[in-house]
Amino acid sequence: MTSRLERAVGTVVRNDNCSGCGGCALLSDRISVSLSGEGFLRPTVAATPTPPQEDRAEARLFNRVCPGSRLVAPADPRPRDSRTFGPYVEAWEAWATDPQVRNAGSSAGVLTALTTWLVESGRAPGVTGAASDDTHPSRTVPVRITTRAEALASSGSRYAPVGTVSRYSAQARGDALVGKPCEVSAARQLNEALGIPAELAPIRLTFFCAGTPSQRATDKLSASLGVEADDAISLRYRGNGWPGEFTVVGSDGTVGRTSYDDSWGKHLGRDLQWRCKICPDGTGADGDVSVGDYWRADEAGYPIFEDAEGSSVVIARTRRGLALVEAAIAEGVITASPIALEGVAAIQPLQRERRRTLLGRLLGRVSAGKKIPHFRGYGLVTLARSDTTGNIRAARGTFRRSRRA
Ligand SMILES: Cc1cc2nc3c(=O)[nH]c(=O)nc-3n(C[C@H](O)[C@H](O)[C@H](O)COP(=O)(O)OP(=O)(O)OC[C@H]3O[C@@H](n4cnc5c(N)ncnc54)[C@H](O)[C@@H]3O)c2cc1C
Repeated sequence: MTSRLERAVGTVVRNDNCSGCGGCALLSDRISVSLSGEGFLRPTVAATPTPPQEDRAEARLFNRVCPGSRLVAPADPRPRDSRTFGPYVEAWEAWATDPQVRNAGSSAGVLTALTTWLVESGRAPGVTGAASDDTHPSRTVPVRITTRAEALASSGSRYAPVGTVSRYSAQARGDALVGKPCEVSAARQLNEALGIPAELAPIRLTFFCAGTPSQRATDKLSASLGVEADDAISLRYRGNGWPGEFTVVGSDGTVGRTSYDDSWGKHLGRDLQWRCKICPDGTGADGDVSVGDYWRADEAGYPIFEDAEGSSVVIARTRRGLALVEAAIAEGVITASPIALEGVAAIQPLQRERRRTLLGRLLGRVSAGKKIPHFRGYGLVTLARSDTTGNIRAARGTFRRSRRA
């Protein structure tokens, strides 16, 4: 007979609600996470005999923490709310003051600058982040950052599966976490389940996230540029300029490059997992601080992906996040000026549309016979009312695609 934990995990995975965050690996020794045949991180549960009480407790904890099972919006009061970005305290345009960090980072090195400052100032003992695997550079792995050099080595977005939260130190005043919105959500829900007071919980930094592409997308793109992924000695998705280029180097010195627009728009962004298409929080309301690209826009309001000096949108989500950003500005770690988030929604079309049509997408999934995660507190009905036609279209499209898949 399968255990309760196997059934709980199986329900999330079978219904394509797993985001591959890796949070479940923290909850039970029976769970391990690895790349599936489709190129996404997925958990498996060992059939180890487990006393029923322990099995029940682990299954309950899993259902409380896993963002593919349940996601309840953070409840702490926040003075502002945005349709696209959710609740927040303050927002800025910002960049890392150190030009080397600004250039190395994805959009302006803010996360790398904050990471370095957190560890150097003793505000956090370390930071868990993601970086290219030393021995297999086309893969992405969680890393622990304790120095500026390590922070710089993990700068730049990696558009591939990695379960950063699987290394989360769920303890009061533990290592800070930089992760995708689903990862910081898993961390926050775990803190709550363990009763760690919010003010003592590890600091959570996050970024806007359109979704995690399959590892296969990276491998195919790399091969199309003349380097087999297994033969790569270095692989960067962007950074070293803004937005920077996808650059892969083979062991024979072959260098394959392509623009961000091409790598994301034609390859990586077309191979996302299902859970990301129904994400209610792609801009990181569960972080203390979340960061995104502050793209320049053309006349129609669409982002222009031309190389420039990096610029980020930085959002303080919590009071603690506000204090951190203000201290980082005062100490010259980042350079920032306040902005109104309403203007930013126009240059994040994916984030705006996904949230506005999410109710329709969820209905499409349910109509196609899929179980959906339990989302609460995201105002999806109110958002859907602002675009009924778009939601009907989204429901139909999602239904068709779900049935085809
Ligand atoms: C999958 C993905 C989708 C994204 N979608 C959007 C979007 O829709 N809109 C938008 O504006 N921005 C998006 N970004 C974020 C954007 O690319 C920048 O990461 C963000 O603006 C922060 O830039 P930065 O220069 O401050 O980060 P950096 O200083 O370059 O630091 C990046 C940090 O992110 C961590 N990291 C990198 N890749 C991953 C990963 N896959 N999982 C977990 N942690 C990781 C690293 O540890 C590092 O600490 C996305 C990033 C990723 C990885």
